[in-house]
Amino acid sequence: MYNSVICRYHEIATKGDNRSFFERTMLENLKRILRDEFPDLRYRRVRGRLYMEYCDKRDFTDSELARISELLQLRALGIENFSPAIITTPDMENISNIVKTAGADIFPTAIEKAHKEERTLRFRIRARRSDKNFPLRSQEIEIALCSLLGGIYGRENLKLDLDNADITVGVEVREELAIIWLESFPAPGGLPVGCNDRTLALLSGGIDSPVACYLTMKRGSPVDFIGFHSEPYTPPETVEKVQRIANYLNTFQQPGRLYMVNLVELQKLIRDNCNPRYRTVLYRRLMFRIAQYIARKRKIGALLTGESLGQVASQTLVNMNTIGNAVNMLILRPLCGQDKMETIEIARKIGTFELSKEQVPDSCTVFAPDRPSTRVSIEDAEAEEAKIPNYYEILERLAQEAIDAFKNK
Ligand code: ATP
Ligand code: MG
Repeated sequence: MYNSVICRYHEIATKGDNRSFFERTMLENLKRILRDEFPDLRYRRVRGRLYMEYCDKRDFTDSELARISELLQLRALGIENFSPAIITTPDMENISNIVKTAGADIFPTAIEKAHKEERTLRFRIRARRSDKNFPLRSQEIEIALCSLLGGIYGRENLKLDLDNADITVGVEVREELAIIWLESFPAPGGLPVGCNDRTLALLSGGIDSPVACYLTMKRGSPVDFIGFHSEPYTPPETVEKVQRIANYLNTFQQPGRLYMVNLVELQKLIRDNCNPRYRTVLYRRLMFRIAQYIARKRKIGALLTGESLGQVASQTLVNMNTIGNAVNMLILRPLCGQDKMETIEIARKIGTFELSKEQVPDSCTVFAPDRPSTRVSIEDAEAEEAKIPNYYEILERLAQEAIDAFKNK
């Protein structure tokens, strides 16, 4: 019965000149999300809405709709909600017939369920007429459909409730078509990835940084990734895990690059020259600097991390300040005010938790001190770094090698 899927987004995001760019980005993203499994869909823009239908206008099967719902609920960043819908010619008889048929699929079970709960099913009709030549006004369409449904299911079984409806029947009448729907499903919301500038994420194998990447994509920024390892002190699994997570995160966006950098050369110099209690902070400053070098070369304006306040020794205010001070670039920390449980909940929802929970050694734990300092000042960190021979030459060489790895690809 349903011959289209209609997607809605927040009007706020699409004010003024932005609108067309926002909608084009969203359309491209929808195509990317669906094209592998649904190659013969056609994508349309009508004011304030996007919708998909088959090129030959055939109906979707239930299992096709279920699969599309699954993909949109997970990946359609920027879409607020969506509905399986029926697109038809804008004529009232047609619209009434469709509401009747589509309603037969939904109303009887809903009425029965409400009865079991000892209440009456609440419903409402929301009609919008943008074609001013259509013979009925919005409210008249609503009244007509209301009495139609009341006649079929009995007024004692249905209660009109504009604020708290169990079922909303939506009708939109435009010049060229009418759209009818009975159910809406939530999508992730936010902004379509690609409508904001790119960021470079420090991606570990942990739970937090993949969630930070997702949240940033959901604000419109595509993400490139940089992961650090310490082979041979960390096993190949450390690198493989980060690659797996980056590949998975890339299913939410136009794929970004993953840079992998081996820190061990500088970690040894830090081990041999610096106060052991500062190691973790010094590693972090090193990571940020390498990331900044790559970001600058690639004209990326911000770094992104999964840091959260107070979670581990390196995330005290003092240490975060000292770490952030190593670079002169915007650092996004979308998880900063999140509890771990909130982050885990998102990780489960988006599917990264399963990938993150596998235990592999992290680069930061190589030569890690027993008692890391929770209060490393900027001056102390700088004084320790001054003891490392050729610190900047080495870190720039490592960063440049990571960039060059893409030249031959
Ligand atoms: P995560 O779960 O993301 O690893 P975490 O709670 O374990 O975070 P830390 O280990 O202190 O916290 O790391 C803080 C942030 O530093 C990470 O979210 C990530 O952005 C970055 N980071 C840490 N280790 C690495 C690494 N080996 N490679 C890339 N980035 C890293
Ligand atoms: Mg970690």
